[in-house]
Amino acid sequence: MLLVSAPILGVPEKAALSKVIDSGWLTMGERVQAFERAFADVHGAEDCVAVSSCTAALHLILHALGIGPGDEVLVPSLTFVATANAVLYVGATPVFVDIESIDVPLMSLAEAEARCTPRTKAVILVHFAGYLANREQWQRFARARGLHIIEDAAHAPGLKEVGTFGAAAAFSFYGNKNMTTAEGGAVIARDPDLREKIRLARGHGMTSGTHQRLNSRTPQYDVTMLGFNYRMDEMRAAIGLVQLQNLQEWNEIRRILAVLYRRLIASHCPAVTVPFSQPRTSAYHIMPIILPRFARRQHVIDELRAQGIQTTIHYPPLHWMTLYRERFPGIHLPLTEDFAQRELTIPLHPQITSSAVEAVVAALASSLDSSSQAGTAA
Ligand SMILES: *Cc1c(COP(=O)(O)O)cnc(C)c1O
Repeated sequence: MLLVSAPILGVPEKAALSKVIDSGWLTMGERVQAFERAFADVHGAEDCVAVSSCTAALHLILHALGIGPGDEVLVPSLTFVATANAVLYVGATPVFVDIESIDVPLMSLAEAEARCTPRTKAVILVHFAGYLANREQWQRFARARGLHIIEDAAHAPGLKEVGTFGAAAAFSFYGNKNMTTAEGGAVIARDPDLREKIRLARGHGMTSGTHQRLNSRTPQYDVTMLGFNYRMDEMRAAIGLVQLQNLQEWNEIRRILAVLYRRLIASHCPAVTVPFSQPRTSAYHIMPIILPRFARRQHVIDELRAQGIQTTIHYPPLHWMTLYRERFPGIHLPLTEDFAQRELTIPLHPQITSSAVEAVVAALASSLDSSSQAGTAA
């Protein structure tokens, strides 16, 4: 099966893991610190905080910004559920905002403006599929209203601009992301005070960790806030250090494959559109395509699957999920809904060959032919 995404793991990761086991120190030690420095470095940041997931990262950022009950946070509906869940964790209200267009499926600035109220405190921008939101535009918007910008950068690790939009950025190292630690995440926050609040809240609000106490003469610690256990362990950091060395090269391979997909789709499946038709900085996390209105998506999915090609959907809109539909009924986001009903994500990861890309596009073309014939017959 040609998978939509697949991690690249090998001998260096195995060696790094066995070194951790030999060392006998399993969590929040030197490797976590080294990983934090290296990850920050890639993004031109001074420092970062490694955590257990991107979900934890988003929760910690909202918590550290003091966002809570009575506050509203603008979020896209076209995202993974963690983006909005983190807002609910702190007792605030996620306000779903439509996308700009089918071609630019990022949060619409005009729609965000329309949904601002005196209770709005922050906006979470998702760099969908790895394509960066417009930084200057959102900074102007946030500054004019005194809002915090939070980046959900799960799709966009390795880009210099990420983490520079506003208060903080949350990253994911889940198994299907551009680099992985199996489970894992990180926060980049430029303001040292905010960063230290996040670091403290990551580990129960304790003023020192086990590793620090080992190396200091005072075994005391204090608990200064209600924190969480969102720590990263040494095994994950060790894998992360290896993966990070490949991130730029992997992102470049993703770019080359995305360019090839665009060219082949334009010539063999002219009815299919590929979002982000205009050049835009990207980490090319996934390859979303938009099927023509005549196509039956399930038929295309089945045909590709029969040829050993996995596809997925990014995303079923959050405002359609039972949890959110019941809490926030009656939301209608026409562009998000149209996008989500026609979107299909085809395989994109650095181990895909150009002949696999050709095979995917050929399978797509033939499934659309049979889709349109079936449509005509019916
Ligand atoms: C994967 C993902 C997350 C969650 O990441 P975890 O590390 O699994 O918590 C959040 N937001 C987006 C956009 C994602 O793709």
